[in-house]
Amino acid sequence: MLLARVSVGGAAFVARIEGDRALPPGDAQLPGISDPPLIDPVELAALRLLPPIRPGKIACIGRNYAAHAAELGNTVPSRPLLFLKPASAVIGPGDVILLPPDSDRVEHEGELGVVIGERCRHVRPEDVDSVIFGFTCVNDVTARDLQRSDKQFARGKGFDTFCPIGPWVATGLDWRDLRVSVRVGDELRQDGRTSQMVFDVASLVATVSRVMTLQPGDVIATGTPEGVGPLRDGDRVCVEIEGIGALTNPIRLDGDAPAEAPAW
Ligand code: ZN
Repeated sequence: MLLARVSVGGAAFVARIEGDRALPPGDAQLPGISDPPLIDPVELAALRLLPPIRPGKIACIGRNYAAHAAELGNTVPSRPLLFLKPASAVIGPGDVILLPPDSDRVEHEGELGVVIGERCRHVRPEDVDSVIFGFTCVNDVTARDLQRSDKQFARGKGFDTFCPIGPWVATGLDWRDLRVSVRVGDELRQDGRTSQMVFDVASLVATVSRVMTLQPGDVIATGTPEGVGPLRDGDRVCVEIEGIGALTNPIRLDGDAPAEAPAW
């Protein structure tokens, strides 16, 4: 089932997506979301999709595809490399990714996102299916120059709008071998499969839950395949995952940000 948050007449509802329509979701609810169910069917073209979840945290895994680690001159880590993106970076389908003037190199990273369904910690790899609600597309937008210069990832990965999520959450999906692709305009930039992960979804959920309690609606971004590349003003970036759908966002310069970087 595909479950979305939709805005109709300025109010948010939970809906089931089928073809090009949003339908009442029945008893289904998204984890950590309290919006009411959609009552009447609506054409997708007539509504706005919202971020399908409101994660308290986004736990991300770096260098989890060997070819991507190599393209950035990194080796594959011996254990999952964990970092966080702030919840304030989340945007939904169609929302604008803002290029901060502080960076000269902002890149896309298309990733399978695991949506947690239950509060949990210390989950064993063989038990992760019981705590996973579903899957969505994540674009782990990254200011590559700042990530490199800072060593810590918080600034390069943490700008507002740097975490597009959506277009909805797919439940009942087998995560083991899904195509993950990214297009910028008509150009295919990334094209991998989840079977190429160094550490698989079960291992990642178990690893993260050894460190931090996971809450309903939390998201784990599972790393990106090779082919990351720059985003420029006026581009449109689309992350597509087999069995889920396509998450498309336009790119613009951040006109609200101070033009000059601070001098320190
Ligand atoms: Zn990433």
